[in-house]
Amino acid sequence: MITLGLTGGIGSGKSTACRMLNDMGARVFYADKVAKDIMQNDADARALIRDTFGSTSYNEHGSLNRSYLAAQVFSDPSKLEKLNAIVHPLVFDAFEDAKTQAESDGVELLVHEAALLFEAGGDAHVDYVAVVTAPDDVRIHRVMQRDDTTERAVRDRMQHQLPQDEIRDRADFVIPNNADREALQAKVRRLYEQLVTEAKAASD
Ligand code: ATP
Repeated sequence: MITLGLTGGIGSGKSTACRMLNDMGARVFYADKVAKDIMQNDADARALIRDTFGSTSYNEHGSLNRSYLAAQVFSDPSKLEKLNAIVHPLVFDAFEDAKTQAESDGVELLVHEAALLFEAGGDAHVDYVAVVTAPDDVRIHRVMQRDDTTERAVRDRMQHQLPQDEIRDRADFVIPNNADREALQAKVRRLYEQLVTEAKAASD
């Protein structure tokens, strides 16, 4: 089995590429969803978050107070580091479990999708990293349409991510997504076939 980290800036088309990979037969581990699930449901994470950020972190019915936590961590980088130090190791544990399960299910390609893969150190847990790229104006336009939001709000979110050039330099594969969905599908198919061929050769 091969593990592939898949990342890219906001609106680049990561989720779209992952859906395509999943349809082709890959299994996808959505790290950002797993992180949210851990913050909501993992007893150790809940206790640590409460100890670090106070009881306001969860509302009276026990659900995560996302707006409070977001305000805390975006106003203070040291708080973001603290939250990451709680959540990231648990996400990587969950990924290691997903790897074991995928191996035993005979999966050839396991994809670890994360918006902030390099920032979180997720690249150390995978064999290769692929980055989906698109020009800023295309990404902004796509997200404004998808989320019914403003250019300013999208640019604000972009500020919290590594510049696209840097992600591209650190990745093993680059998937430009500057044309239509069919063009993306063809590129994703080529990468999928290359990696599955490698996985099969390694297991022979
Ligand atoms: P985020 O980081 O915000 O989760 P993402 O990188 O996962 O974004 P997607 O949600 O896959 O990006 O794509 C952003 C939007 O652009 C979606 O509405 C998607 O359907 C659309 N999109 C993706 N690729 C293309 C394409 N090649 N042509 C047209 N629309 C596209």
